[in-house]
Amino acid sequence: MPTLSNPLFDLTGKTALVTGSSRGLGRAMAEGLAAAGATVVLNGANPDRLAAATEEMRQAGRKVGSACFDITDEAAIVAAFERFDADGVAIDILVNNAGIQLRKPMVELTTPEWRTVIETNLTSAFVVGREAARRMIPRGAGKIINIGSLTSELARATVAPYTVAKGGIKMLTKAMAAEWAGSGLQANAIGPGYMITDMNQALIDNPAFDAWVKGRTPAKRWGKPEELVGTAVFLASSASDYVNGQIIYVDGGMLSVL
Ligand code: NDP
Repeated sequence: MPTLSNPLFDLTGKTALVTGSSRGLGRAMAEGLAAAGATVVLNGANPDRLAAATEEMRQAGRKVGSACFDITDEAAIVAAFERFDADGVAIDILVNNAGIQLRKPMVELTTPEWRTVIETNLTSAFVVGREAARRMIPRGAGKIINIGSLTSELARATVAPYTVAKGGIKMLTKAMAAEWAGSGLQANAIGPGYMITDMNQALIDNPAFDAWVKGRTPAKRWGKPEELVGTAVFLASSASDYVNGQIIYVDGGMLSVL
């Protein structure tokens, strides 16, 4: 990971919490924020994966901590922020990244499945965002980055609750900006295209789907997790202080042609 030398993008002295950063896009963004100077608090629900990721980053010389909690468990989220308070950890940057996907036709989808996808991908961003903002507002500063998707903008078959949740992420981001910009906070979102992570492994391994992604993406390839880093660092840094309520798509041009 290259070192960033422009002071506009320098995150030294800042602390970032990245939900779902034991692997995938969250891990890549956590690495990028750490490379820009931030202390990063990793999160995940699986304690072993989280401990391994934290240790790897520590071994690489990054300033890193961890907070293991399930983002659908409100009591656990509140308790994690109370622990940050007790330990004197102030979260300056929050990346609401953790999420899940469930592919199922709507006529087969159960209501509990619907609720799980909405709660994991949307409600969690509100709850974690609220706990962060309650502490950022008195300090008069804070950066919130919510992770949307191409489905923040358009619907695809078999992922209805995911689409609804990610559309909600776009509007939650605008609602956060509307309410909190006057208190010195910025809330923006990133909409990744089709990226190479565990979430997509079955699709990557499916030759027809793989060909569809490569054929329909103007860049003619899947995105790499580290390709989100530049946008994440920009939105976490003072370079974006007058950018608020926006969603930036990092999708190899796909949304321009679909
Ligand atoms: P992965 O499945 O590769 O990783 C998901 C991460 O989220 C893991 O760290 C996982 O932790 C964590 N997580 C999942 N559920 C919970 C939970 N209930 N509580 C705490 N942590 C949880 O996903 P991606 O990296 O691909 O996706 C990250 C985000 O980006 C998601 O919001 C996704 O919707 C979005 N996105 C992804 C795209 C892609 O192409 N990959 C495209 C557009 C958006 P653990 O290891 O503990 O399970």
